[in-house]
Parts: sequence; structure tokens; C-alpha cells
Amino acid sequence: MGADPLTRIRTAPEISAILLDVDGTLAPIVPHPDLSAVPQDTLDVLGRLVERYALVGCVSGRSALDAARLVPVPGIHFAGNHGLELLIDGTVQLAGGVEEWLGDLRTAGAAIEPIVAEAGGWVEDKGASLTVHFREAPDPVAARALLELRAVPLLEAAGLVSRWGRMSLEARPPLPIDKGSAIEELLRERRDVRRSLYAGDDRTDIDGFAVVDVKVAVRSDETPVELIKAADVVVDGTEGLVALLATLLD
Ligand SMILES: [Mg+2]
Repeated sequence: MGADPLTRIRTAPEISAILLDVDGTLAPIVPHPDLSAVPQDTLDVLGRLVERYALVGCVSGRSALDAARLVPVPGIHFAGNHGLELLIDGTVQLAGGVEEWLGDLRTAGAAIEPIVAEAGGWVEDKGASLTVHFREAPDPVAARALLELRAVPLLEAAGLVSRWGRMSLEARPPLPIDKGSAIEELLRERRDVRRSLYAGDDRTDIDGFAVVDVKVAVRSDETPVELIKAADVVVDGTEGLVALLATLLD
């Protein structure tokens, strides 16, 4: 790739897709996800990107509706729950195979609840997946160790796949769905889109990198080194990303 990988995107907006993670990428990381917000100047830039580019999409670990609430910009497409659901014309659609796991997710969530409480964390029921948050635990390192020892085996016994995120543990159905397949789903039947960019800040975003042309890592002191290594461009924090997005309007 040339000196500036963004040139390919910037010079061909009518055939380019801009795909973005939400938390830690558009919204600064805060102690509790309910406190997250995307700054107004970022929303303004996103609105202008929607006008210029073939497609602008958000691919989030949040539920699709929650991601849409956080990024209230008309014209943006949403994939939630790491691709387990899509928001299409205002309606949430579960990816294939997810529906039959909903009962097991509820049961497993209830089973780990006391362990998570003991660790000082809490369980977020996201419908098609569960997220255990322990950022606010008194001792996040001890919380993670406790979860690893006692919650992860219960999740695995339920047939779910667990994965560590930033101060979080996710459990989801064992389906071949990730942020990469979510992006492919958003781009399916969009033959006008021939170039794509994805920006993210966490381990699950590496799956997104696998299916796009330009990979942008948003760096913080918690960013996994694998993400940085896989990136074409690295920016510092959500402020660095909005500055980069603004250059796509030049
Ligand atoms: Mg993120």
C-alpha cells in the first residue's frame, strides 16, 4: 500500500464504505457503558460522511438498538452484538442460528450472576449475547481471575463461547459470526462498494480488519498489541479518529 492508505478511500467516496466500532472508537471509554456518549463534533463529521460516502456503518459489541441510540445519525447502518444482529430499516434482525440460543443465554446469565456479583461486576443481557463488566470492580485483576476460574467453565458448559474484552467478558452462541462477517453482511448486495475502511480499538475488531482494505487502530493504554500490529494506520484515541475521519471529507 502507498504512503497514505487513506488516499484510496478519500479519492473515491462514491465506491467506498466507512465502517466503525463505537465504544473506544467513536465514544470515549467511561467506567459504565450507560455513561458513554459520542461527542457532537464526531456526530457532525459522521453526518457529512453519510452524505459523501457509499455507505457508513457502525459495527458494535452493543446491541444494534443501543449502538443506534449512541450514534443518532440518519443514514448510518448498524450491526450489533458483534454481528449477531443487524438493524435493517429500524427493525432488529438476528443472524441465522441465533434464535435457538436465546434460552441458553438467559439460563447461563442467571447461573453466573452470583459469581459476577462476588467479583464486583455485573452482567449485561444483550439479547443475543451476554457481557460481564468488571471495570468498576474494586480489584479488576482479582475479578478477572475469579471469573476465569468459576464463570467461564459455566458458560462453556452451556455451550457458549466466551471471550475477554476490555475489562469485560463476553459470552455468545458458538456461531461463525464476528465483526468481519458483520461487515460482509452490511456490504452484501452493495456492489457499488469496492473499497472499505474499518476502525476499532479492541481484540474483536481484528476480525473486522480481515475483510476491509484499510485498517485503522484507535490506540489507548488498553489497546491490544495484536490490533496495532494488524493496522495500516494508528490514531491516538477517539480524538485522533475523528481527526482522521475529518480528513476523509477533504
Ligand atoms: Mg471498541
